[in-house]
Amino acid sequence: MSDIRVRFAPSPTGNLHIGGARTALFNWLFARHNEGCLILRVDDTDIERSTEKSMEAILDGLKWLGLDWDEGPFYQAQRLERYREYAQQLLNEGKAYYCFCSKEELDEMRKKAQKDGRPSMYSGKCRDLKQEMIEKYLEEGKKPVIRLKVPRAGKTVVHDIIRGNVEFENSTFDDFIIMKSDNMPTYNFATVIDDYEFKISHVIRAEEHLSNTPKQILIYEALEFKLPEFAHVSMVLAPDRSKLSKRHGATSVQEFRDLGYLPEAIINYITLLGWIPQDGEEIFDTSKSIKEFTLERVSKNPAIYDTKKLTWLNGHYIREYDIDKLTNMVIPFLQKKNLIGDNYDYNYIKKIVNLVREREKTLIDIADASSYYFAEIEEYDKKGVKKYFLKTGVIDILKKAKKALENVEPFTVENTEDAYRRLIEELKISSGNLFHPTRLAISGRTFGPGLFDIMELLGKAKTLERIEKAVEYIENYHEEVE
Ligand code: GLU
Repeated sequence: MSDIRVRFAPSPTGNLHIGGARTALFNWLFARHNEGCLILRVDDTDIERSTEKSMEAILDGLKWLGLDWDEGPFYQAQRLERYREYAQQLLNEGKAYYCFCSKEELDEMRKKAQKDGRPSMYSGKCRDLKQEMIEKYLEEGKKPVIRLKVPRAGKTVVHDIIRGNVEFENSTFDDFIIMKSDNMPTYNFATVIDDYEFKISHVIRAEEHLSNTPKQILIYEALEFKLPEFAHVSMVLAPDRSKLSKRHGATSVQEFRDLGYLPEAIINYITLLGWIPQDGEEIFDTSKSIKEFTLERVSKNPAIYDTKKLTWLNGHYIREYDIDKLTNMVIPFLQKKNLIGDNYDYNYIKKIVNLVREREKTLIDIADASSYYFAEIEEYDKKGVKKYFLKTGVIDILKKAKKALENVEPFTVENTEDAYRRLIEELKISSGNLFHPTRLAISGRTFGPGLFDIMELLGKAKTLERIEKAVEYIENYHEEVE
């Protein structure tokens, strides 16, 4: 292993979203490309918002996507002593200080700044508080926060591998809080301590953290820690370039899994949110992206999230997928629709999946498209009925079709097709006049896989029975109308 060490550090406050999955993926690709180490760290110091359920969902999502990690998960909530020790060190060195300002005082400062048209910043009131005062307040049981002494002048520059140098004036920062009054670290503080202690070489994370990075650099400098490299990956935006949210449909990995997307398609798709292989090909697996992935080639422009493209890619993967793997993934969807129970004929399902997958884009689509193999037809396609069942002569054609099929043995694609070709010639009709009503009769639909493939899979008995039922239906339909 190289000394490249990266981390994915989700906050367990929700599901694994596309943006988070993309951050995890880019860390993973970078680690795998460099034969480095990917560490999973859980940023769970926000006790109120962090949940066990969300943590499980995130770990589940990562596993399902095939994004494995080498160390961890490490939980920040189990490392509180470490943060407290470093905060104490900064206090001892005079690089940080206790601040006892009350909420009211801070509100006052904020209001004043607003009135003067200045950005709201902490005034530095407690920066030079006398030791006796500090002791007195502590004795009184006041709960202070700890603030970092931020240099008043100068600049902090973030050297970002994707974005180049990004400069921040130190005067725009106040003495920000590193430990809260409940003795919990702030995100900026805990992340620096962990990135240092876990020897993280590259911090790869979402662009929304870019404004935190100069603050983190100030903490690194105060602690005299060596800086890691930084790479901030661009935002993932909705097609209208707004922030991605619920109203844009499915956005979490779990939702896509439940909708019948394949992990490989999602991985391929989210790789494209900011990266593309040298040859410009859009369909590739991770063997290629691992081989070629570099941060230098990650785009700094916002990535536009487009489910149509994901769905298109999913269709591609469905067609190419290992048929047994695919069948096993379709089975729970068939069960959910009550099309099969716990005992099923695996080989039969496999044949069906193999036949219908050609036209379908998700596992749900495959389950829907397979329904007539497992359940009786409840309703014929309405337009199809008008177009094909109500044509004059259809009853006669279907009756003759049934008769012709009765003699077919074995009931194979070739033999059924032969029988139909002969019937077309005999009746001197166009193939459509026979094929369309038959398709509607045996599948209830106007489109789908090849007609003779359907017949073979349904088998002779079912095919004949359904043609007969369709004849009855058409006869009754006429009666109803008349
Ligand atoms: N917990 C932070 C987040 O989920 C991590 C940010 C970072 O990678 O430093 O956004």
